[in-house]
Amino acid sequence: MAEKSGASAPGAGVKRFGRGANECRICGRKQGLVRKYGIYFCRQCFREWAGRMGFKKMS
Ligand SMILES: [Zn+2]
Repeated sequence: MAEKSGASAPGAGVKRFGRGANECRICGRKQGLVRKYGIYFCRQCFREWAGRMGFKKMS
Protein backbone atom coordinates (compact mmCIF):
# COMPACT_ATOMS: atom_id res chain seq x y z
CA MET A 1 0.00 0.00 0.00
CA ALA A 2 1.32 3.37 -0.92
CA GLU A 3 0.51 6.22 1.32
CA LYS A 4 -0.01 9.56 -0.26
CA SER A 5 2.14 12.34 0.98
CA GLY A 6 0.68 13.90 4.03
CA ALA A 7 -2.49 12.89 5.76
CA SER A 8 -5.73 13.76 4.11
CA ALA A 9 -7.82 12.22 6.80
CA PRO A 10 -9.65 14.66 9.00
CA GLY A 11 -8.20 15.09 12.41
CA ALA A 12 -4.74 14.26 11.21
CA GLY A 13 -2.19 15.24 13.73
CA VAL A 14 -4.75 15.24 16.47
CA LYS A 15 -4.26 12.54 18.98
CA ARG A 16 -7.39 10.87 20.05
CA PHE A 17 -8.23 8.20 22.49
CA GLY A 18 -8.68 4.69 21.29
CA ARG A 19 -6.36 2.22 19.73
CA GLY A 20 -2.72 2.91 20.18
CA ALA A 21 -3.40 5.45 22.87
CA ASN A 22 -0.61 4.18 24.98
CA GLU A 23 0.24 7.45 26.53
CA CYS A 24 -1.00 9.57 29.35
CA ARG A 25 -4.13 11.41 28.42
CA ILE A 26 -3.06 14.34 30.49
CA CYS A 27 0.62 14.89 29.90
CA GLY A 28 1.27 12.41 27.11
CA ARG A 29 3.91 10.55 28.99
CA LYS A 30 4.43 6.96 28.04
CA GLN A 31 6.24 5.84 31.08
CA GLY A 32 4.52 4.26 34.02
CA LEU A 33 1.17 4.18 32.37
CA VAL A 34 -1.77 3.16 34.48
CA ARG A 35 -4.44 1.40 32.52
CA LYS A 36 -6.68 0.55 35.38
CA TYR A 37 -10.35 1.31 35.12
CA GLY A 38 -9.92 1.81 31.39
CA ILE A 39 -7.98 5.00 31.77
CA TYR A 40 -4.59 5.89 30.45
CA PHE A 41 -2.79 8.01 32.93
CA CYS A 42 0.81 8.02 33.92
CA ARG A 43 1.55 7.35 37.52
CA GLN A 44 1.85 10.96 38.42
CA CYS A 45 -1.33 12.07 36.74
CA PHE A 46 -3.15 9.03 38.00
CA ARG A 47 -2.14 9.93 41.48
CA GLU A 48 -3.60 13.38 41.16
CA TRP A 49 -6.65 12.14 39.35
CA ALA A 50 -7.22 9.41 41.90
CA GLY A 51 -6.93 11.91 44.67
CA ARG A 52 -9.47 14.21 43.09
CA MET A 53 -11.82 11.37 42.40
CA GLY A 54 -11.58 10.32 45.97
CA PHE A 55 -9.82 7.07 45.36
CA LYS A 56 -8.33 5.53 48.39
CA LYS A 57 -4.72 4.72 48.41
CA MET A 58 -4.38 1.02 47.95
CA SER A 59 -0.89 -0.21 48.48
ZN1 LIG B 1 0.50 12.09 32.91
